[in-house]
Amino acid sequence: EPGYEGILRRQSQRESAARTYARSLPIVPVRARGLTIEGADGRRYLDCLSGAGTLALGHNHPVVLEAVKKVLDSGAPLHVLDLATPLKDAFTSELFATLPGELADNARIQFCGPAGTDAVEAALKLVRTATGRRGLLAFTGAYHGMTAGALDASGGAGDVRVTRLPYPYAYRCPFGVGGDRGAELGARWTESLLDDPKSGVALPAGMIVEAVQGEGGVIPAPDDWMRRMRRITADRSVPLVVDEVQTGVGRTGAFWAVEHSGIVPDVMVLSKAIGGSLPLAVVVYRAELDAWEPGAHAGTFRGNQLAMAAGTATLAYVRENRLAERAGTLGARMLSQLQGLASAHPCVGDVRGRGLMIGVELVDPEAAAPGDPAPPAAPALALAVQQECLARGLIVELGGRHSAVVRLLPPLTLTDEQAGAVLDRFADALAAAER
Ligand code: PMP
Repeated sequence: EPGYEGILRRQSQRESAARTYARSLPIVPVRARGLTIEGADGRRYLDCLSGAGTLALGHNHPVVLEAVKKVLDSGAPLHVLDLATPLKDAFTSELFATLPGELADNARIQFCGPAGTDAVEAALKLVRTATGRRGLLAFTGAYHGMTAGALDASGGAGDVRVTRLPYPYAYRCPFGVGGDRGAELGARWTESLLDDPKSGVALPAGMIVEAVQGEGGVIPAPDDWMRRMRRITADRSVPLVVDEVQTGVGRTGAFWAVEHSGIVPDVMVLSKAIGGSLPLAVVVYRAELDAWEPGAHAGTFRGNQLAMAAGTATLAYVRENRLAERAGTLGARMLSQLQGLASAHPCVGDVRGRGLMIGVELVDPEAAAPGDPAPPAAPALALAVQQECLARGLIVELGGRHSAVVRLLPPLTLTDEQAGAVLDRFADALAAAER
């Protein structure tokens, strides 16, 4: 059975059902440029999933293609394990120039690879090696990857060495108060766990946090709360690991999301956009933490020269064209338009985000309990909205604790006109799904 339907059918038989969004997006992409993906059936879609936030410049951006072609034509080796190369030197220099505060002058880098979860593993291992401690502080709703250590650090898993702390999720505040007050209570909870000798929580090897939870439902942490976490960890000599796998490279309106609060982490976990659409993952950290002996952290696929070239071109393009600023202003405008939509649709419970990382949480207002600030989540409605978006040529992803948050992660190169088209299609899809 040739063609589009055959490809879909064969892959759904041969591939594990563990595939996530692919099950609800029956598309066979064959061409792509910028925001647009074209399927084998000739249909075109606006791609607001962007490789789960990987494609800062959209699909096949000319500067990325040019950088990759230049390497291919140069005769340079594509795979060199850990050896030093001009491409690695260029990538590291470009990356270091973007790092916040003291890290820019005092960072070490460990290439990991090829995925975000590999860099998370490296970060956890690094802080455990450097401190000689085992335990870890992580947050409800967190997502750090699918390998063992990263999974333990993600919300929902249950390793005994991971102490789970409340993330400041104002809309569904675990303390029932929301806003700054909820964040404050979470911070005090954290302090009391660390300081009360009877809490049973030993001094941990590190704290791992996202400045904006992505998979967890697009939840930006307040800047004050991030500063508080920085103080709590610094005062107790606990390394702070910030996972910028999804928030990095301009997406939230700053080059790194930690810049909003002005904090400097001890360790940053980076992947996705840093490879300019090719697989690349690194940890960068304060040089004093570099406790690894030679050979302590090895791996075959971490010298990907094409990814480094694509990544260097992407980082430079974002910096030179001030795309972080652009993501900030365009994202704020999209957010306020979506908030306007919320007032006309009671099923839109919350609209939130930072820069071009936007989430719309769908709820069932009729099932709201009296006095409850947030009605129950509406995952079936969210799935229906995703399907109606697809029918209108718009790709969006779902996330959140209950898979009821529609997530928009468009490329940072999104034009005003494209943003308008995305919002129009989304509004139509919402109206259709509600019916
Ligand atoms: N950390 C965060 C914050 C992520 O969003 C992701 C992926 N969505 C990961 C880690 C894991 O990255 P990967 O899927 O490349 O392993």
